[in-house]
Amino acid sequence: TRTGSGIGIDDLPIRDELRGQTPYGAPQLDVPVRLNTNENPYPLPEALVRRIGERVTEAARALNRYPDRDAVELRTELAAYLSRTAGYEVSREQVWAANGSNEVIQQLLQTFGGPGRSAIGFEPSYSMHALISRGTGTEWISGPRRADFTIDVDAAVAEIAARRPDVVFICSPNNPTGTAVEAATVLALYEAAQAARPSLVVVDEAYVEFSHRPSLLSLIEGRPNLVVSRTMSKAFGAAGLRLGYLAADPAVVDAVQLVRLPYHLSAVTQATALAALEHTDTLLGYVEQLKAERDRLVTELRALGCEVTDSDANFVQFGRFADSHAAWQAILDRGVLVRDNGVPGWLRVTAGTPEENDAFLDAVRAMQKETV
Ligand code: PMP
Repeated sequence: TRTGSGIGIDDLPIRDELRGQTPYGAPQLDVPVRLNTNENPYPLPEALVRRIGERVTEAARALNRYPDRDAVELRTELAAYLSRTAGYEVSREQVWAANGSNEVIQQLLQTFGGPGRSAIGFEPSYSMHALISRGTGTEWISGPRRADFTIDVDAAVAEIAARRPDVVFICSPNNPTGTAVEAATVLALYEAAQAARPSLVVVDEAYVEFSHRPSLLSLIEGRPNLVVSRTMSKAFGAAGLRLGYLAADPAVVDAVQLVRLPYHLSAVTQATALAALEHTDTLLGYVEQLKAERDRLVTELRALGCEVTDSDANFVQFGRFADSHAAWQAILDRGVLVRDNGVPGWLRVTAGTPEENDAFLDAVRAMQKETV
């Protein structure tokens, strides 16, 4: 990027590994139907918006002070939410929160990765796992996945044994494919990772509330090197809030405090998240609607002759296209923005409102007519 001064990034004395890189981010285009970033299409309910106003007003009266550095009330409520919905009791000492699960992942990599260390993920997967690894000086290892996008346990175990990574990422349900991971797979990879190093295994459950299967949270029992990360960006419909969290052994929570910035979670963020947690039942009602819409997208896309990967998330991977970028453009030309994650032959669409999904399906039909 050229600035007004004529100086570009590469003229600056930046770290070598950042040279030639581009910042993460999907195109933010102004089109009628945006189904490209796995957001929840439903705005927060009005009662919750009012409650946020109350709680933030209260917090504003104390903004001359730093916030609760340990976010004790928020972690207590997050632990209660997890215990209630994931069928496994966790305490506040096992929960840690940060500005989005991206920051949770960053703190984990700052603590368990870093220069001279490595992290592995099974690709295609959430590309920020690799990007935050690089950003923290952690070598990235791209692990294998089967053609049907499930994790090949034998191949993954062999790769872990050979490369001995310090951090292992397992994304379930996986972005961008939608594929959930079996508990037995996580356990096999955990065992392999402990035998090889031992290393930290991070199960990224950003989309788990949309899954047909239960959370893998209970796997942390007796496994101090297993972490489950979560977010309020998807199921809670609060991507703008920036609130992610993890559950793990209390020792992991103590460890990430070594790298977290003091007062990283603002009082406004904590107040807003606490208000949202008071409205969990309403928000999980929207999740049920989105799950039904996600299943409808799978069924209707298959009826249109598309190949569709089974989805446990709030998005659907569909194809296959000889030229996926051309298909992405053809759908965009009809006013619907989906995501091209660079997985050859495939695109990803986020489940929106019923009207948005209809518009998307119409766009696919129109594209098919034109190309036949
Ligand atoms: N994990 C996965 C798998 C994701 O897809 C995303 C968001 N795209 C995140 C983590 C990060 O979300 P946030 O920082 O908003 O919590």
